[in-house]
This record gives sequence, C-alpha cells and structure tokens, in this order.
Amino acid sequence: MENNENINVNMAASESADNKKCPSCGATLKYDPATGALSCEFCGRSIDIRQQIQPPGVAYSLEDLASHAGAHYLQKAKIANCATCGGRFILNAQDIANNCPYCGSNSLNETDDRTGMLEPTGVLPFKISKDEAVKLFENWISKQRFSPADLLTKAKATDFTGVYVPYWVFDANTYTEYSGKFGYIYGSGDDEYIKWYNKSGVYKLNVKGETIIASQRLAADPLWNGVSGFNMNFMKKYDPDLLAGFVAERYSIDGPAAWLTAKDRIRGNIKMGIKNQERADRVGDIKFEPGYSNVRAKYCLAPVWVRSFKYNDQVFQVLINGQTGDVSGRTPKSLRFLLRILMIIGIVMGSFLALRVLMMIIRAFISFLQSR
Ligand SMILES: [Zn+2]
Ligand SMILES: [Zn+2]
Repeated sequence: MENNENINVNMAASESADNKKCPSCGATLKYDPATGALSCEFCGRSIDIRQQIQPPGVAYSLEDLASHAGAHYLQKAKIANCATCGGRFILNAQDIANNCPYCGSNSLNETDDRTGMLEPTGVLPFKISKDEAVKLFENWISKQRFSPADLLTKAKATDFTGVYVPYWVFDANTYTEYSGKFGYIYGSGDDEYIKWYNKSGVYKLNVKGETIIASQRLAADPLWNGVSGFNMNFMKKYDPDLLAGFVAERYSIDGPAAWLTAKDRIRGNIKMGIKNQERADRVGDIKFEPGYSNVRAKYCLAPVWVRSFKYNDQVFQVLINGQTGDVSGRTPKSLRFLLRILMIIGIVMGSFLALRVLMMIIRAFISFLQSR
C-alpha cells in the first residue's frame, strides 16, 4: 500500500502550499516529526521550518463558528469521503484520493461538499515519527495474547498513515448566580447528622482548554479512548507545512454542536465549584444558570498514526497517539489458541463432573452399607 504515502495535505491557500516540492529533485516534501523539518524521501534534502512555527493564534468567537467565518480554508484542498466506513478527509489538491486510512479500502470518493469548513487555528505537531510508531506497534502486538502467529506479517503488509484528527478547544469566562440547599455533616459515628442551610451566592469560573473531539466516528469508537489524551499546551499556530505528508480528517461535529457538549461539561464543573465554594458536604436542590462571556474556540488538529490491516477478510485497526505514543487497537484472536483454552476449560469442568459422580457413587455405596 505504497499509495498511502501519496496522500498529502496542503490545506491553506497560502504561498507555502505551492512550494511543497523538493528544490533539489522536485519530489513532494513531508514534515518529519523526528527533526521538525520538511524532508525529501528521495534525495534526503531537508528544510528546517522550526523558525516559522508560531504559538497558537487568535481563536474563533461563537459568531464565527455559527457563520463559518474563515471558510477560505478549502480553496486549495480536495475533500474525499470513504464509501466503506464513512470517514471524511481533506487531501492535497494535487493528489488523487487513494486508500482510506481508517478502513484500508480504496473507496475514497472526491466530493464538492465543502459546507462549513473553517481553517484550523491550531496544530499539535507529530512528535512520534513513523519509525517510532512502527516500533511501538511491534512492541504492542508482541504483548497481545492469543493473537495468530502470522499477525505481524499480515499487519506489516500495510503502512502507517499519519492522520490529523479534528478537535475543538474552548475557553470562556463564566458568571453564575446560585441559590439552594447545602448540607453539612456534624458529629461522627452513630451521632453523625446532616444540617441543611439555604444559601445563595455568585460563582465565577474561567474555563481554559475544554476539549471536544470533532469526529463523530472517533467519538463513538471505543478504541479512541485509549489514545485520546493530548496535551493541548503544545499546540502551535496552524501552518500548512506541519501537515505536509499527512491526511486530515474533516470535522463532522461542528463548532456550535461541540459548544453545547462543552457547556454540559462546564455546567457540571460549575456545580462542583459551587459546592466547594460553600464548603458543603452535600448539595440538595440548587438553582443556577451559568452566563458565558468571551467564548473562544480553537479548531485544533491532533496527530494519530493509523494502521488498518486485513486478517481473514476482516479489517483490524491500530491507533497510536502521535504525541504521547499511546497505542490502542483490536487484533484477531487465534482459533488454535481459543480451541486450546476451550479444551482446558473442558478438562477442568469434566474433572469436576467426574469427581461429583464419583462422590455420589461413594455416598450411595456408604448409605447402602449403612442400610444393611
Ligand atoms: Zn529531493
Ligand atoms: Zn474508510
């Protein structure tokens, strides 16, 4: 599946998107996590871009999110949907859609549907290189119990694809007036009792970095939990050069929808905060309606290595967090191992049964002797 290599992403309409060719040999340059440079796989030419990478810039307001401001994002990119797994990706305008990084099928179809695409505000650059990802994978697979002996060979037939996964990161100021019942525990042991007080007050919370995954697919994938821990403090300003050589998944949960989810979480934190502020042991009915101001959203791309491989016509997938190296995946279980385990269970259960029958015979024999 060499073709995976050719899915490159230049998403912005900036100058640099046009210059992603190697000045020495004309091949397509890729961002190399190991060196922080754009490098050429063919002639080894390397262009250091660390100087040009900026700290994260201005975030979107809620109004921007609703009106899709900044939609110039897609002018020089192509959108492709996977007909097999539903994955939605953004590709380099020069590239032909190849294999889907999520399911490995070659059913990526280009589409013109570019509604609601904002330019990313931030990127978490890949820290784990592809070579490191391969090592992490081999180490992980060697610890998988009951996996077939030829699994590694089959998996190695496919390549790792670097995918940028979309995230929303919210900051906001909140101001909440509250009133309600707060319980305090007095005494101890058998004499313990709770006294309830009606109290009211104001609680202020400044929310920083409330993170919501913007991919419906990954949000529903149990595998994702194992690799979803990103440190957003390392976020850089969006720069198309950081994306050279990678695929970006487009967001399927838009900003306004993500903000609703974020508000739910923030509401829970505010309730906890009010309880702590009142130093209460219990909270009863409390009335509070947070007010939000200065809401800012960053649309951030987070790095993941994906390997999808077929075993007995079934697709299996392994994900590696491109920042931390956490690994999460499903592997096929070997039939031979399963049969062996069933046999052991069978033998154990069989011997229990045999023992019980033997006991019954002995008991029957004893009572027969006693009855005489
Ligand atoms: Zn070159
Ligand atoms: Zn797919």
